[in-house]
Amino acid sequence: MGTLQIHNPANGRLVDEIPADDAASVAEKANRVRAAQPAWAAAPMAERKACITRFRSGLVSEADTLAATLTAEVGKPIAQARSEINGLLARIDFFVDQAEAAIADETVFADEAVTEHISHEPLGVVANISAWNYPYFVGGNVFLPALLTGNTVLYKPSEFAALTGLHIARLLHGCGVPDDVFVPLIGAGEVGAALLAQPVDGVFFTGSHATGTKIAAAVGPRLIKLQLELGGKDPTYVCDDADAATAAASLADGAMYNTGQSCCSVERIYVHERVHDEFVAAFADTVRGFRIGDPTDEATYIGPITRAPQIAVLQAQVADALAKGATLRTGSRHLEQPGNWFEPTVFTEVNHTMELMREESFGPVIGIQKVSGDAEAVALMNDTRYGLTAGVYTRDEARARRLLSQVHAGSVYWNCCDRVSPRLPWSGVGDSGVGLTLSTYGIQTFTRPKAWHLRRPGV
Ligand code: NAD
Repeated sequence: MGTLQIHNPANGRLVDEIPADDAASVAEKANRVRAAQPAWAAAPMAERKACITRFRSGLVSEADTLAATLTAEVGKPIAQARSEINGLLARIDFFVDQAEAAIADETVFADEAVTEHISHEPLGVVANISAWNYPYFVGGNVFLPALLTGNTVLYKPSEFAALTGLHIARLLHGCGVPDDVFVPLIGAGEVGAALLAQPVDGVFFTGSHATGTKIAAAVGPRLIKLQLELGGKDPTYVCDDADAATAAASLADGAMYNTGQSCCSVERIYVHERVHDEFVAAFADTVRGFRIGDPTDEATYIGPITRAPQIAVLQAQVADALAKGATLRTGSRHLEQPGNWFEPTVFTEVNHTMELMREESFGPVIGIQKVSGDAEAVALMNDTRYGLTAGVYTRDEARARRLLSQVHAGSVYWNCCDRVSPRLPWSGVGDSGVGLTLSTYGIQTFTRPKAWHLRRPGV
């Protein structure tokens, strides 16, 4: 077995070197997880819920250590790291509260002769291949409901959040989830590919569109359940009746939180010409005020870019936008210092010939485009292959509902952005993905509904 080196993206220093999996260890782990599944599925729901509730307590008591690890390996500013761990608590509460009812048996028809009944059976062994940008959220959206509904889980955290993945496994095991019921796999893409070669019953992937299509190609012929939660190019429209300053403050946060590395970061902004200049001035001022620097500092808002190669993507988008006539309002520089640093960057006078307005930036870079009215805004919002989230800022609820009903996206927002609720389904349309997590649908998705046709004898 080889090792995986983890470097701190804030300074390039080695954080840790840990044993990594290979094809043989992945196969051995897959066998163990398969063997453990029937007993876990047969355990009472109350026992599985108790394990997850104890896991919640573990997160609370170790929050400082867990946040420090997340900051060291991903570069997430420490206040945002703590906030992610706290945010997982609400998701755990939802899943624990709802799991039993979501998969309860249902009788959908009964007369004197026939009863029709639905039960929900676990898929079996679930492969959970995860991203680094919100490892607690995107991992937890899968492994929590998967475990609660009686599945065993092969969990491959991102190679950029492997220490967090190991913390999660340690906490779950310490809370009564058997070692063979939740098994982490450590390594990069080749370990993910080795996992896909195992006889799993479902693949739940969160990551880039490029990797998602590879996974779909590998898994497709197997005819097993496949969910892909991929990237986006999430638009927002600021209408002429919106309060420009309030919208600017909200959207600057929605674009730059987590250093712009959220699947649902605001990635494109369209502003009605009547409020455009006021909005842009307030937006650029807010962004200039964001503190960039040491992610272990409580006051830091913008941290490093987690993956070094993303710097080149941001630089290419900046160069393309400038070459095509965009106006730079602030930022745009790759900071030449140890680690991966990129200034928060705002462009105006952008258009859809620019990569900046078409492809996921996944960094602190945003384009703001002036529009003349609602029809143009909706057409531009829908001019994308992605469809994760979209939003509208206006004082008029009816106008917001009308516009949002025309936008192709899995989640839509009125006067808010970059928001996820455990009670609502999380999904994308187009190249943003297939399937969903969260909500009661995101619990049922880890089960197979079984149809029971029961005819009483002699009736
Ligand atoms: P990525 O695609 O590079 O990696 C995701 C995971 O796939 C990692 O664990 C990686 O090791 C693994 N992997 C890579 N190649 C593989 C292969 N050939 N076979 C199997 N596994 C393989 O993505 P990332 O950089 O970790 O995450 C960023 C992306 O994730 C962004 O596009 C972001 O928008 C998206 N994302 C989407 C959501 C959502 O809910 N829709 C949430 C978070 C992140």
